[in-house]
Amino acid sequence: MKTSDFIIIHHSAAARDRATLNAVNKAHQKSFNYKSSLGWYVGYHYVIIGDGTVYQTRNDTDYGAHCRADNMNSKAIGICLFGNFEIEQPLEKQLESLKKIVEKLRKKDNIKNSNILGHCQINGSKTVCPGKNLLSWIKYKLLEL
Ligand SMILES: [Zn+2]
Repeated sequence: MKTSDFIIIHHSAAARDRATLNAVNKAHQKSFNYKSSLGWYVGYHYVIIGDGTVYQTRNDTDYGAHCRADNMNSKAIGICLFGNFEIEQPLEKQLESLKKIVEKLRKKDNIKNSNILGHCQINGSKTVCPGKNLLSWIKYKLLEL
């Protein structure tokens, strides 16, 4: 049974203006091949595209397919923002959407602040995801909600 004890935040790594939901869907079909109850292979539960629009691609209770480290696919909600935040900055409208989702999930599932993390902060993960520009916002701004 999947729980929602953590929220893990990702970036697409593809540039914000070039990333597409279809491309992520195809890539995750190849790497995980695990369809959600909503019909997507996208391994994240939520995707925030470049204009801030939010797509829910997995039900909160569906297992994720976004972070194998520390068995997170069975205990975390995954959220991905389109962009490569090693290079570009997240847009205000993307951050606003992220704040809203996190706030909602945090209340609904009683998720601890210390369990709201960037992908690279998970033990055993070997990635710079979600990129230094988004990670610093997660660390220093998101939790001032
Ligand atoms: Zn990631």
